[in-house]
Amino acid sequence: MKIKFLGTAAAEGWPALFCECENCRRAREKRGKNIRTRSSCLIDEKYMVDFPPDTYWHELNEDFELSRVEHIIVTHSHDDHFYPEDIMMRKEPYAHINRDQPLYVYGSDSVKAKFMRVNVEEDKKNRIVFKEVEAFHTFCAGEAKVTPLLADHIPDEKCFLYLIDIGGKVLLYGHDTGIFPEKTWEFLKGRRIDAAILDCTDGPGPCMRYHMGFPACLKVKDRLLKERCIGGGTVLIISHFSHNGGFLHDELKAMSLPHGFITAYDGMEIQI
Ligand SMILES: [Zn+2]
Ligand SMILES: [Zn+2]
Ligand SMILES: [Zn+2]
Repeated sequence: MKIKFLGTAAAEGWPALFCECENCRRAREKRGKNIRTRSSCLIDEKYMVDFPPDTYWHELNEDFELSRVEHIIVTHSHDDHFYPEDIMMRKEPYAHINRDQPLYVYGSDSVKAKFMRVNVEEDKKNRIVFKEVEAFHTFCAGEAKVTPLLADHIPDEKCFLYLIDIGGKVLLYGHDTGIFPEKTWEFLKGRRIDAAILDCTDGPGPCMRYHMGFPACLKVKDRLLKERCIGGGTVLIISHFSHNGGFLHDELKAMSLPHGFITAYDGMEIQI
């Protein structure tokens, strides 16, 4: 499984839109891995987790073809994770695609409601197909077996983390969330994970509910060990950083590497 991080920031990006804070000023000055766009991942060139408003820029900048993506798996309805207006650009006459392969979009009832609000034009060629999914019910997306797990993110919406199994390699896509709800831990118990991407919105900060800072990521790691989900070979990654967390890339790396975590950056690729 090849995972490419297209974006690694929280909702406002980093440097944040309109922001004059010191953390954004430092990121603008140092650039490189400190420039972070809104979060999503590309897996094996044809799966995406989330579809943020920066996707058009990702396609231009990260050298991949959006027309080759066949499945978009959506965590929740927040705009930085799901911007369906741009998914509609896959329809004629905005895009001309020489294959019949539809694009499948998967998400909760809330994600579906947002999708349906913009899916108003007739789609004669059935270009985009929405599939509503349920927590803890595994579904197939192409060759991938995908299980939505409950996150702790917005109290009035079912937000999902995902276990994505492709050819026996298992990725836990773990944001946006606080420390996982107990029902999710029950499901994870004893299930082997090859890579986990965790919410570290708050950087070094103390956040544990709705998002996490690094101390919460360490608690999640301990629990994953206790539940026998991870071992020495598991790749652990932190991502989805907010400027309010304060640490730039090198500072995040210095904090997390001694604990066995990789700090994601825009454009980073890993193979598991
Ligand atoms: Zn987010
Ligand atoms: Zn800022
Ligand atoms: Zn969110």
